[in-house]
Amino acid sequence: MLTPDQRSRLMSRIRSRDTTPELVVRSMLHRMGYRFRLHRKDLPGKLDVVLPRHRKVVLVHGCFWHGHGCKLGPVPKSNQGYWSPKIAGNRARDARNALALAELGWQILELWECEIRDLKGTERRIKEFMMSRRS
Ligand SMILES: [Zn+2]
Repeated sequence: MLTPDQRSRLMSRIRSRDTTPELVVRSMLHRMGYRFRLHRKDLPGKLDVVLPRHRKVVLVHGCFWHGHGCKLGPVPKSNQGYWSPKIAGNRARDARNALALAELGWQILELWECEIRDLKGTERRIKEFMMSRRS
């Protein structure tokens, strides 16, 4: 049995683990008053956050799965033969999707998991992105 205090500490730990980079980005956009849709199937790629009225897309890349090469995303030394082709495949797909979206006239903001940890910086980049116009 847990005391109420222990329970609430446990719950807050679980909640903070649920705060994925994508949720952080969504809640920032929401707070800024933007309406978005998730995972639209009619556009190239599995898009995280789509802002149809602005014709903008925010892509949130997990550092490991998308091969950022930062400290969050190194390929494990063991089993490189297994992971490397998968990650390379993801990167190639990301590039193809970004190109296809740009050709359809969508503006794209790509955010990496490691960058999103800087909440202030992320908020600033999202603001700049939302204010920017297509050239
Ligand atoms: Zn990274």
